[in-house]
Amino acid sequence: MKPMWIGGDFVSGKSRIKVVNPATEEIVDEAPDATAAQAREAVRAARAAYEKSWRRSAAHARAEMLHEIARGLREKTRELAALLTLEGGKPLRENVDELGWTAACFDYYAELGRNSRGRVIPSGETTQLNLVLKEPYGVVLAIVPWNYPLLLLAWKVAPALAAGNAVVIKPAEQTPLATLALSEVFAGLPKGVVNIVTGRGETAGEALVRDPGVDYVAFTGSLAVGKRIGGICAEAVKKCHLELGGKDAFVVCEDADLDVAAKAVAWASFLNAGQVCTSAERVYVHQSVAKTFTDRLVGFTKSLRVGPGMDPETDVGPMIGARYRRQVDAHVREAVRRGARLLAGGKKPARLSKGYFYEPTVLANVDHSMAVMRDETFGPVCPVKSYGSFDEAIRLANDSIYGLGANLYTLDAKKAKRFYEEAQAGTVWVNDPLTDNDAGPFGGYKASGGSRELGEEGLEAFRQSKHVHWDFEQNPKPWWYPYGDKSRRLKS
Ligand code: NAD
Repeated sequence: MKPMWIGGDFVSGKSRIKVVNPATEEIVDEAPDATAAQAREAVRAARAAYEKSWRRSAAHARAEMLHEIARGLREKTRELAALLTLEGGKPLRENVDELGWTAACFDYYAELGRNSRGRVIPSGETTQLNLVLKEPYGVVLAIVPWNYPLLLLAWKVAPALAAGNAVVIKPAEQTPLATLALSEVFAGLPKGVVNIVTGRGETAGEALVRDPGVDYVAFTGSLAVGKRIGGICAEAVKKCHLELGGKDAFVVCEDADLDVAAKAVAWASFLNAGQVCTSAERVYVHQSVAKTFTDRLVGFTKSLRVGPGMDPETDVGPMIGARYRRQVDAHVREAVRRGARLLAGGKKPARLSKGYFYEPTVLANVDHSMAVMRDETFGPVCPVKSYGSFDEAIRLANDSIYGLGANLYTLDAKKAKRFYEEAQAGTVWVNDPLTDNDAGPFGGYKASGGSRELGEEGLEAFRQSKHVHWDFEQNPKPWWYPYGDKSRRLKS
């Protein structure tokens, strides 16, 4: 069992959580299930490190340490990627990519933090100075889900550290192992600047959220848990940001290269077994090309190989757990019961008796009354619906409580412009789905949370602004009525 990392010390847990390999259903390791006292201790350690040195550390010194973390991640890519596959099921290749993006995120915020500062507000008064300082909040709690455990950790921890905050990390209970292994990568930081606490969300996680020593909660996860955490933070007037679920639309226009579009849709729907917050969960295709497009999508989907993530031949790995697979299957069953046509998948693969696998699935003849078009499915399911006019496609794409991302496939610039202007989504991809850019903000409209990570916005999120107004002299001011210049008194 790997220990937690609190105040620069390794700390084991009294009770434990079992970590299950989703490809085999076997227990591969255990992780500490932190007690409330251990959660408090991590917050105390973070606070002490913040007050002692980190909040006053120079931006260039922090930048060097963030680059060092990026170097450590690159050196340990193979080891960490293998752990991610073992605990999360994602194909090894995808986890190697995740490590690359994670390291790049630390490099990006090293330089953004080094180069970004407050500002001077020009003043006409020779004796006055107006400054805007950018200050950290203090102790940031980073709560991370299991689908991209290290990448989504980096989106919080890198900017939070660059801004001068100390951090407590709480990984998901399904995927604590790769995160615990990061203690070696963070070892160059002053003790307590980063702490790793594992445990169940509703116990260890919630104890951390409620701890008065936590100044800021950065959460990525489900809408239900986000509402709960948001409520607790609102009650305590504690700053928090919420990155929640999605139900992304993917609109294919009649001019699209249908072969490429079908592959793009499959990639966007089945990557990480569809367990991506920006998975394409609703596909709308123009009626004139719907049949050709759907045939190609189905052909391509059926050619995908489902299997364990350690097998280099695997295209689609297992889902994270039985509960999640049951929900996906329930969405598919309900849709079929209500008239949807199942064109591919829709069941566990017969040749894999163990593991939480689900065949990549394509549904047609769907409508918005079905859960598969309304609620987040979060699995390898791609429902396809045809549309008549571009107005209708935009209306359907926006018909969701969520607004994380939206995709369009077309070479028609007028349609592309109209789509990105009208889409109620935090990211719009045209002809290149699911591509993130460290410099571009990421986050959702509507019930997807309204917060932003990455980009300059992602650093700004972890800093608060302080306005300093300074007069070098001590003269009475004429507007201090009735204490100042009495000649300014209004004559009645
Ligand atoms: P989840 O909400 O169940 O858990 C997320 C994290 O919150 C875990 O670390 C968990 O331990 C913790 N947690 C659970 N209950 C808690 C509580 N009461 N107090 C404090 N912490 C608690 O989500 P999940 O099932 O692990 O992840 C899947 C969800 O995450 C999906 O809805 C997906 O769309 C969303 N997601 C969003 C983004 C984004 O950037 N918007 C990215 C990835 C995943």
